[in-house]
Amino acid sequence: MVRGFSVKDKMKFSIELLQKPVKFIINLVFPVYCLLCKEQLSYQTDTYLCDACKKNLILISGKVCHKCGRPFVNGICTTCREKQFYFSKARASGIYDGSVRECIHFFKYNRKTYLLETLFEVFLLPNSLDFPSCDLIVPVPLHWIREYSRGFNQAELIGKKISKRFNIPLSKTSLKRTKATPSQTGLSLKERTKNIKGAFSARNEQKLNEKRILLVDDVMTTGATVNECSRVLLQAGAREILVYTLARGV
Ligand SMILES: [Zn+2]
Ligand SMILES: [Zn+2]
Repeated sequence: MVRGFSVKDKMKFSIELLQKPVKFIINLVFPVYCLLCKEQLSYQTDTYLCDACKKNLILISGKVCHKCGRPFVNGICTTCREKQFYFSKARASGIYDGSVRECIHFFKYNRKTYLLETLFEVFLLPNSLDFPSCDLIVPVPLHWIREYSRGFNQAELIGKKISKRFNIPLSKTSLKRTKATPSQTGLSLKERTKNIKGAFSARNEQKLNEKRILLVDDVMTTGATVNECSRVLLQAGAREILVYTLARGV
């Protein structure tokens, strides 16, 4: 029954009625394919992965190391027993392998930033991180040359999604990458720690003072980068650092 509806409601109703056929026609002319398996997607979908590929994304849902969040059955993993990380807890949604890795590559290197929406729809945000208890979100910064050439900072886009969902302010000026470091790929934790040392510096320290910070990045591999960021943030006066990454290596 349309009677009794406001003009605004009627307009909304008409737009919704029109949306389906319009989408159907657009899809006929410009079909959308699943980014992973290339199967054509239904015109009714707003995502960029088919259902089968979404199901294949490996999420971290079982027991994890209490400290670094890697899948681990019993308490604290060997790395965390040997190394004192500055952050108090790190958690990730997926395993950085197979299709999760492919999606992150699409998102990061092929500028398919819209894929982030789909990833957040599928990925579980780990309950044990207690997002609402954080005072401020700080994305891991890129060196400005890297950010300029990529066109965006992937960590900032992830941070913005969490900021919106939990209504937590985000600061992209509190942490700066002052040194462009060579690629960390293939290096051990010890080598990465040495490589990244002194690459970040804190700004606007009053914003960080006594704050519980949620440090955000796309992938955590050995933890050297987020650990160095945590060290700098704590030194600048932050009370505690929690880390969230979309995925982590195992
Ligand atoms: Zn697919
Ligand atoms: Zn651990």
